[in-house]
Amino acid sequence: MNNVKGFNCASCGDTVYSRCKEDNLGFCHCGRVQVKGTPQEPEVYINDEMLLVPNLIDIELPVDNDILYWDWNLMRNDYGYISELPKENFENKIHEYSTS
Ligand SMILES: [Zn+2]
Repeated sequence: MNNVKGFNCASCGDTVYSRCKEDNLGFCHCGRVQVKGTPQEPEVYINDEMLLVPNLIDIELPVDNDILYWDWNLMRNDYGYISELPKENFENKIHEYSTS
């Protein structure tokens, strides 16, 4: 298990996390929230304004940071968000996540 930190968008309900520090695609579905930085130490932006003390959510992923990096690098985009919206392969990839 790999523990990463994400942020939940209150508007669309998506939880977003960064896959690697180069990842600049970490938007929620509605585009209000963007997460940059590293999976473990993210920076959260709401409407392009950085939050100084974001209310981060602990997420347990079944894959390590290398997989997250290559998911970004190869533009597979299987990771980086948790959404209620149906997405191909999504449910098989993210087994569980928890809030604390
Ligand atoms: Zn959103």
